[in-house]
Amino acid sequence: MDSLNPSKYLLSAQIQGHQDILNRLCLDLKTKRLPSCLAFSGPAGIGKKLVAKALAQVANCEKPQDRGMACGNCGSCYRAFKNQSESVFELTPQGQSIRIDDARKAAEFFNLQNISPARFLIIDDADLLNVQAANSLLKTLEEPPSNSYIILVTSSLWKLLPTIKSRSVPIIFRPLNLSELKLLSPQAPLWALHSSYGQVGRIENLILWDKQGLRDKATIMLSLLESRSSVSLPSKDSKTFKENFFSSLSHKETSLNLLKCLQSLIRDLFLWRTTQSTDGLLNIDRLPWIQSFNLSFQGSVDDLATELQILEKKLYAHVEGSLAFESFILSITNKNPKKESGSK
Ligand SMILES: [Zn+2]
Repeated sequence: MDSLNPSKYLLSAQIQGHQDILNRLCLDLKTKRLPSCLAFSGPAGIGKKLVAKALAQVANCEKPQDRGMACGNCGSCYRAFKNQSESVFELTPQGQSIRIDDARKAAEFFNLQNISPARFLIIDDADLLNVQAANSLLKTLEEPPSNSYIILVTSSLWKLLPTIKSRSVPIIFRPLNLSELKLLSPQAPLWALHSSYGQVGRIENLILWDKQGLRDKATIMLSLLESRSSVSLPSKDSKTFKENFFSSLSHKETSLNLLKCLQSLIRDLFLWRTTQSTDGLLNIDRLPWIQSFNLSFQGSVDDLATELQILEKKLYAHVEGSLAFESFILSITNKNPKKESGSK
């Protein structure tokens, strides 16, 4: 450990946008008013779990600093920084739910002999606790041992089981603003920062989808709807086009990601059509395309939005991607028959 850089292992230094929440919780901890069960709620990928871990680091620091902050250099801070703290148990869902066996293991963590100043059970995606798992934790939630804290992390507070929710104190986190996102992800292009909705955890995925050509595919798909489009709807005759275009859509995940690209482009079209301003546009790098599509697509954005909802339902209902997207294009085209070039 580097004594010249005393804050080297400080988790709080990685936090953007939620320092005020951490400060408040640290103060509560110091004055022994910290509730034993907290529910950290807010959009996914904004740093809620990091705040929970930073709080645990503060609580167990061997040389706490004046303002109740961690030193970032002691053995305990180092282990907390490296996710090796014996004072923290992290419960994460395996698949679509948190099951009773895992919840029991988490409860047992509090039964171990306590050697640290404070212990933290962090339950990630706590809304995925199934009823049996939640029930097995109720006693722990109600009467945790002294200096033991449970932090439920969720992006859907309303989905928490009532028995769990009623036993926790909610802490609401906000999405990150543009300057906070820039600090956390300095290499990311502006469109990805805007499109992340303040969730730094989304940026990497957005860039990946773009590299996979999904935004390009979404613009091509929408261009098929242009009233005077030179591109025509894939037909039985244009087998190659169809095969190329729809080939990757048999994977549900790819289809859903393409859907998200379509949604964000159509949202931008609506904004541009109603305000003629770049304020709030997500795909800011595609402004020329948005402007051009706005002029050439004569149909209503409401129709697009309605058909998008139908498309989304179909994809979640496991309808094959290429069929669902083709049906989306056909439905819009039927509502907006193409005009012959040169005619009225
Ligand atoms: Zn320390």
